[in-house]
Parts: sequence; C-alpha cells; structure tokens
Amino acid sequence: MAAKDNLKPYRDKRDFKKTSEPEAGSKSGYKHMFVIQKHGASRLHYDFRLEVDGVLVSWAVPKGPSTDTREKRLAIRTEDHPVEYADFEGVIPEGEYGAGIVMVWDRGKYRNIRSDAKGKSLGNSLKEGKIEVWLNGKKIKGGYSLIKTGRDKGKERWLMIKHDDEHADARRNPVSSQPKSVKSGKTLHKIKKAYEKNSG
Ligand code: MN
Repeated sequence: MAAKDNLKPYRDKRDFKKTSEPEAGSKSGYKHMFVIQKHGASRLHYDFRLEVDGVLVSWAVPKGPSTDTREKRLAIRTEDHPVEYADFEGVIPEGEYGAGIVMVWDRGKYRNIRSDAKGKSLGNSLKEGKIEVWLNGKKIKGGYSLIKTGRDKGKERWLMIKHDDEHADARRNPVSSQPKSVKSGKTLHKIKKAYEKNSG
C-alpha cells in the first residue's frame, strides 16, 4: 500500500518505545481532516497537516498561519505523518526526534477549492506545488493557498497565504491571541506539567 511506504521516513526517525507518538496505520474517520499543531521544540513552530490519500501531508510553519492576506508565511515540507497524529498532544522526550511539547492548536475539515484544477485530486495539486483549500477549523477558517517555491537543503519550501474572503482579517492574530489547545484547553506549559505529573 502506497500510504504505508509514505510513512517510512516518519517511522525511521522515531523510537516508539520512547515516544508516545502514534506508530502508524491508516484508520478511517480522518478523511479531509486538517490539524495545526503548536510544537514547542528547540524552536517554536506550527505544524500544518492535511489528510491526503490516507496520510497527513505536513509542513512546519515557523510563524504559524496568518489571517492577513498580505502575509506570506514560510512553510517547510516535512515527512508525512499517520492520520492518528491529528489527535496527538503531549510531550516528546528529550533526545527523541522533535523533542518538546505538542499541542492540537486547531483542527477541522478542509475542502479542495482549486478552481483551475478540474477533476484534479489534492494529491496532484501537491505534486504540482499549488494547493488551494478551504479550512473549517475553530480558529482558522476560509481559503488558503500553499505554493511551492523551491528547495533548500533537500527540503521543499512553500508559502502559506490567506485568500481574500470573509475570514480574512489583518487585525486578528490568532497565533498570539488564541494560544490554547482546541483539544484540551491547555497551554503548552500545562501540557508539560500534566506530563511531568504522570511520568512522576
Ligand atoms: Mn514540528
């Protein structure tokens, strides 16, 4: 199955005896799901993930998504993640890949809205480097483009840009004004505290 091969880089980077991140396997119920995970790693960033053909295609967005149409946010493509990762919130231990705190910052369903791509799947748009989706999250809504601009050090560089629609708002800055998890209501700090308590 193609989806399983796509996850090899994900599995190769991780020791599942040490991290509580999901190991793999596609489950149903994640179709057209997107998630934005706040990741307090060596450098804070936001991981934007879209379900495409049974895996979460992923980008690390250093500044997180903007609601301002004039902002072009750098998005560095990272390895595909298993769909169950959309539920993962917790702590990746020191010394493990991506060590730090992971929060489900926003989540919801998306629609493929690329108007010049009649009958084209999102998988094809991904290959072409031009994605247009309508996001229906709790914090992030409306149209967004993801445009591939090139490669640097073996990694695909993309830009994430808000479309000019009713959800565009240059004054809103959800990354700073809405810092808590949509899954648990916790801050990064509280997620860490809960982890420390449990691993005592
Ligand atoms: Mn990350």
